Amino acid sequence: MNKYDIIIIGGGFAGCGAALAAARNGAKTLLVERLNCLGGAPCAMAVNPFMRNWTKMPETGEIKQLSKGIFEETVNDLRSMGAMRSNIFNPEYLKIILNHKMAEAGAELLFNSFFVTAEREGSRVKSVTVANKSGLVRLEGDYFIDCTGDADAAFSAGFPTRLGRPSDHLCQPMTLCFSIAGVDPVKFDEQYYKIVDIWREEKKKGYIKNPMDGIMVFHTVFPGIVQLNATRVIKYNPVDCRDITKADIEAREQVFELHNFLVNHIPGFENSKVLSTAVQTGVRESRMIDGEHILTADELITCTKFEDAIAAGNYDIDIHNPEGSGTSHYFFPEGQYYTIPYRCLVPKGSDNLLVAGRCISATHEAQASIRIMAIVCTLGEAAGTAAAIASADNKTVRDIDINKLRATLAANNACID
Ligand SMILES: Cc1cc2nc3c(=O)[nH]c(=O)nc-3n(C[C@H](O)[C@H](O)[C@H](O)COP(=O)(O)OP(=O)(O)OC[C@H]3O[C@@H](n4cnc5c(N)ncnc54)[C@H](O)[C@@H]3O)c2cc1C
Repeated sequence: MNKYDIIIIGGGFAGCGAALAAARNGAKTLLVERLNCLGGAPCAMAVNPFMRNWTKMPETGEIKQLSKGIFEETVNDLRSMGAMRSNIFNPEYLKIILNHKMAEAGAELLFNSFFVTAEREGSRVKSVTVANKSGLVRLEGDYFIDCTGDADAAFSAGFPTRLGRPSDHLCQPMTLCFSIAGVDPVKFDEQYYKIVDIWREEKKKGYIKNPMDGIMVFHTVFPGIVQLNATRVIKYNPVDCRDITKADIEAREQVFELHNFLVNHIPGFENSKVLSTAVQTGVRESRMIDGEHILTADELITCTKFEDAIAAGNYDIDIHNPEGSGTSHYFFPEGQYYTIPYRCLVPKGSDNLLVAGRCISATHEAQASIRIMAIVCTLGEAAGTAAAIASADNKTVRDIDINKLRATLAANNACID
């Protein structure tokens, strides 16, 4: 009963892409998630909107979508349910859409189950153990895909991982996203352009502890409700529970500091109240695996087209300063995009474990671009497809036929060129 062809750990966008692809390609698939819903960051960390992953080809003016397949399908489902405005979406609809897609594909779900440990024999993972209301539950699989965002399974199985940037292992800051209700949308829109200047003035006066040097306020799909991802807690280790607790406490203070600032300085917020904070403080970066290839910023900037490309991107290299204020960017010129090789999903020396999502094998800088939802979903789709091919062909994840993987992704409308 507890034996599967493919077990995926973590039900964020990467895990959902992986589970749907694995099940649709015929594998007996289980998706394990610690929370009670799918979606990961958008549902648990209140991350919104979808950042763009497309480019306009200068010669033809054609819009080239770089994330297709399961991601595009999910966005279309959200649109057809009236749950999207521009690139902003309603996460409650995302959760139910993903549940329905899993049921249609025949992927089994196991919620409220926290991955605890992986059992490894040589270069293979044999089983994973999760903790839930039933106790400690051991799950056996032929192949595993770590989509925890933090590379929890790869780390536990003893495959090499790194934390943050190499010089000091600091990661991009963590952010507790939250929403505010009772905002006058007309007054707010009129005054929006002033927010950053007023924020900086107040910071200079020493009234604000939050290190952000400017803040952005996003509309939501609901009139009068806005969303902020403007808290910033720095120098905490996102995979150390004591540090995460300190980050949670500090970020919650910042939520109310931000709200007080808006009420006192920005017209439209006078009668507003904090509505909700995310279930979890958002993690942009934590552990990453050392895979068969480590993707670098140089490869991104030179728009490398790898022979084993399984995904493409051109989101900017968007690094929130791990030490305090400021965010650095590298924006890709229109018409330019990079690819991501399959080898970045393969932990060094692994026979049957793949990794997808924000914790693939990339440097601190390269991860700052590949981490958006549109891209991690395609990484998941590639990992799920690869594991299903490995299972059907009785191969290791290192030895699968890459042409077959790319052809299968192309046949499923997943963009890989
Ligand atoms: C503050 C913030 C703002 C961002 N803004 C944007 C934005 O505007 N647009 C955009 O496109 N992207 C944005 N991103 C990036 C993007 O949201 C994430 O990088 C992406 O969603 C990561 O997807 P993932 O599937 O790799 O990981 P996650 O979405 O983190 O999914 C991991 C899943 O695994 C589960 N899990 C973790 N550990 C375990 C375990 N031990 N056992 C069982 N389950 C486990 C988690 O509960 C979660 O569901 C932002 C990120 C943050 C933090």
